[in-house]
Amino acid sequence: MVLKTIYLDNAATTPVAEDVLNEMLPYFKEHYGNPSSIYSVAQASRAAVEAARGKVAAALGCEPAEVFFTAGGSESDNWIIKGVAHKLAPSGKKHLITTAFEHHAVLHSMASLEKEGFEVTYLPVDADGLVTAEQVRAALRPDTALVSIMYANNEIGTIEPIAEIGEVCHAAGVFFHTDAVQAVGAVEIDVKAQHIDALSLSGHKFNGPKGIGAAYIKKGVRLPNLIDGGGQEGGRRAGTENVAGIVGLGKAIEIATADIPHKAAKLTEMRDYVIKTLCAALPYVKLNGHPTKRLPGNVNLSFEGIEGEGMLLLLDAKGICASSGSACTSGSLDPSHVLLAIGLPHAVAHGSLRLTFGVQNTMEEAKAACEALETIIPRLRAMSPMWEDIEKGRVPAHLPVH
Ligand SMILES: *Cc1c(COP(=O)(O)O)cnc(C)c1O
Repeated sequence: MVLKTIYLDNAATTPVAEDVLNEMLPYFKEHYGNPSSIYSVAQASRAAVEAARGKVAAALGCEPAEVFFTAGGSESDNWIIKGVAHKLAPSGKKHLITTAFEHHAVLHSMASLEKEGFEVTYLPVDADGLVTAEQVRAALRPDTALVSIMYANNEIGTIEPIAEIGEVCHAAGVFFHTDAVQAVGAVEIDVKAQHIDALSLSGHKFNGPKGIGAAYIKKGVRLPNLIDGGGQEGGRRAGTENVAGIVGLGKAIEIATADIPHKAAKLTEMRDYVIKTLCAALPYVKLNGHPTKRLPGNVNLSFEGIEGEGMLLLLDAKGICASSGSACTSGSLDPSHVLLAIGLPHAVAHGSLRLTFGVQNTMEEAKAACEALETIIPRLRAMSPMWEDIEKGRVPAHLPVH
């Protein structure tokens, strides 16, 4: 029997939608012209790039001239954060505000600026992963150059009060950036109404291709060039455009934002089914992230007494792709900075599992994942010395039974 893959790691990346791929293919074949060339073969490429820019702008509620194509979310984050910091430093503004649980593209950009002499305030988040506009207001200083707060967290799914934070920043005249990589296509975004000055997004998180993203940067703000060279992207990011990627991004964002309420309802149903089922079926389980202010497709649970890696391996043996709360990418076994930021003890953070649903998933897959975990968790606990200590009453559990 061939094992059918159940892909529940859509926060890591998503499959390219069929319609997106079909829209891209001609730009590898007949429409291969360089958008900067003058002849008509090239003009199809130029027109396609500009049409895609229009689609991104429509999805965000901004003008096409405020959209710059980049190589993805990390590149947009780096450009905006370092760009704003470097632009405002000569005027004496060398203070930046962010949260402790941002994506590493933001945190490591901040760390690199700290080495250059910038000062960064890392706001704590509460147990649900929320940061408030009031916290931001209290942290603002006369020398604050930038506030960068993610729209929605990639691990625990918590959605931040972005419009309120934006309002506080604008009242103080401070530039506001949000990493919206997880939010685009999941929630309605309107950068003008939400007082957002700059935003990062990435194609591969909403069924577009990898290696293409965009930065929205409010007009009137000219950041230092990201790449010097030709005149592409208004001269700010030189280099011949990734035309097929840009076309794919445009199509993907058009589809992803076409009917968000309907899509979100379907994802929320799967999400809540899994949370409810597993919390009822297994003892010592905790939901991480805010119960309602969370991404429609995000499930993040901690299971006391076991290690995330064990869950991932046994799930993989059943064809189920998921993600754990340990930063295995770094080769270290430290629990994720996000789970520590919401106050989880190391032992509980280690037993965390993230399942993220996408538009291609079905309720049958959600049920299969629950069935798998209902056997995997007791099996792992039966082999775990940590769990034995808890069961025998030698060590108290960190989590309540239910
Ligand atoms: C995936 C992700 C990124 C990085 O995007 P890439 O396109 O992979 O560079 C940045 N921020 C968040 C919140 C993400 O989920």
